[in-house]
Amino acid sequence: MRQRILFVRGLLMALLVFVVCGAAFAAKMKTKNIIFVMTDGMRWEEVFRGASDELLNKENGVSDEAAYRQKYWRETPSERRRVLMPFFWTAVAQKGQVYGNRDLKSPSRVENPYWFSFPGYSEIFCGYVDPGVNSNDLINNPNVSVFEWLNRKPAFKGKVAAFGSWNAMSYILNSERAGFLVNGGLDLVTGKLSDRQELLNRIKAETFGLSGGAPPDSLTFYSALEYFKQNKPRVFFVMVGHTDVAPHKNRYDEYLDAARYFDDYVKQLWYAAQAMPEYRGTTTLILSTDHGRGEAGGGWKSHAASIPGSEKTWMAFMGPDTPVLGERKNAPEVTSSNIAATIAALLGEDYNAAQPKAGAVIKDVVKGR
Ligand SMILES: [Zn+2]
Repeated sequence: MRQRILFVRGLLMALLVFVVCGAAFAAKMKTKNIIFVMTDGMRWEEVFRGASDELLNKENGVSDEAAYRQKYWRETPSERRRVLMPFFWTAVAQKGQVYGNRDLKSPSRVENPYWFSFPGYSEIFCGYVDPGVNSNDLINNPNVSVFEWLNRKPAFKGKVAAFGSWNAMSYILNSERAGFLVNGGLDLVTGKLSDRQELLNRIKAETFGLSGGAPPDSLTFYSALEYFKQNKPRVFFVMVGHTDVAPHKNRYDEYLDAARYFDDYVKQLWYAAQAMPEYRGTTTLILSTDHGRGEAGGGWKSHAASIPGSEKTWMAFMGPDTPVLGERKNAPEVTSSNIAATIAALLGEDYNAAQPKAGAVIKDVVKGR
């Protein structure tokens, strides 16, 4: 009997320690919300060096070379990248951390061996590579994403949402099972709608000639922004895709413009968040891409396991729990597999305990780790 009492008392103590430590870990984090924006197949080269001299020409689909040189060409890489992605380089890089500049020995890459989109997003959302997820076919992902895992917790239930211009997003996140909103391709937004959302729905439904697979980023983004303001999700994911579509059709001019719009979309979303008390000072912004592309001289147009460079990526973080280390130099390598656990850790949650296959938290991104 005495032994049993001791045993029960021990168990209670262990439980208390567990609860207190768990609470302390969660309480240490200032981050209450995550905004994660990805732009498909954007090369690290343009992110860190800006427009390429080798590619700014007719051969690579630049319709008006003089106009695009005026728009995006500057003498130094730091000026060029700032004119291409001004919010990224003036806000995020100044107040957060940026990984992936191989010129400064800060490598970032995918771990999957495929180097295209469906496996790329799956790796990021789930935190590990599933060799069974190896095509872009519209098949529901059997794996559970960190978003779905968070949405199962009472604190996040109904407060997770994802928007993506690529219609595959609904399959990668398995919207049938996921339990949270996944708006992909030309999906209309339902529920109580603002006038703006109503108009965006009508444009999506009534415009002839839109690609259902990859409609314009503008429609997806403004729909997402409107949803964000109206519904205030705690975990919000947005994916835009023209940085991948343009290179595939050999349009370097459109690729640069798409990168510029991506930067502007991130800025709009961030400012919208800062204007709401639910988000100000308690939100972490994450930016990344699903794969790289080949190098200048033809390779840049595509990406595959056979095209060197396609595995190289970049990622950025800014928020109240991320030390201001700016553009990283001589930094340990990071991979797409690290992102899921890092998202959870910023929210005070331990994804690795629930999903041992997932990559580790990027310690430098989360203060006190
Ligand atoms: Zn592609």
